[in-house]
Amino acid sequence: MSLAGKTAIVTGSNSGIGLGIVWELARAGADVVLNSFTDREEDHALAQGIADETGVKARYVRADMSKGDQCRALIEQVGVCDILVNNAGIQHVAPIDKFPADKWDAIIAINLTSAFHTTAAALPLMRKAGWGRVINIASAHGLTASPYKSAYVAAKHGIVGLTKTVALETAQEPITCNAICPGYVLTPLVEAQIPDTMKEYGMDRETVIRDVMLQRQPSKEFATVEQLGGTCVFLCSGAATQITGTTISVDGGWTAL
Ligand code: NAD
Repeated sequence: MSLAGKTAIVTGSNSGIGLGIVWELARAGADVVLNSFTDREEDHALAQGIADETGVKARYVRADMSKGDQCRALIEQVGVCDILVNNAGIQHVAPIDKFPADKWDAIIAINLTSAFHTTAAALPLMRKAGWGRVINIASAHGLTASPYKSAYVAAKHGIVGLTKTVALETAQEPITCNAICPGYVLTPLVEAQIPDTMKEYGMDRETVIRDVMLQRQPSKEFATVEQLGGTCVFLCSGAATQITGTTISVDGGWTAL
């Protein structure tokens, strides 16, 4: 399928899953906008690399997804948004009685509230274009919980609820809104959790990967960023026109347990 003529904005896409999604949307022909809160040469070079390799238009726009006005400004500055992927996210692992309040606030702001602002800004552009796809990158933790991840689990359950509400509000329009719920994907976000989890459980790295992270992933394999990008491309295809307000798990069977 071709997404030629469509413009996709993917929040938090200079790394990990977001970057994988941008690549797959670009390979399918969409023009892409990469985003994060930094403004480094290498951020812009990522966009240039995608443009050079795929022939689509690609650019990098700095905006901090912890700030509501910057979330809205990202969409407004680009001025067109056929595909919005709310992907930016952070994690912090600690028991709730030791969970720093500023980490709670940051996780809720970046992983949940940013999607409220970007979606509110993008829907008028989608309506004008007569077509739109909102894709929220939730998590298996949007459907189940794990200890020590109170803010993350709350934010991811929240974004699943937001997904359903936006889908109902757009149900009679050529716009869909869905959430993808990945299991573990070996990205920098997951790498960063390993030391804390090693400390929390008193385990070495290999044991954390096998017995904690992939313990609930029956396939015993990480999902890949390419698979998540491919799922986004599918949600933009004609076959997915009647798929709205739902979650698609890419979790090696985690939520079947
Ligand atoms: P990552 O750390 O590689 O990427 C996170 C991205 O968000 C980066 O591009 C980072 O720059 C960006 N970001 C962070 N704070 C930001 C801010 N204030 N403003 C703008 N951008 C910001 O992590 P990832 O694993 O690729 O995670 C991407 C998404 O996938 C997150 O929402 C995460 O919760 C979700 N997810 C990841 C996994 C996994 O196993 N990796 C599993 C389920 C869900």
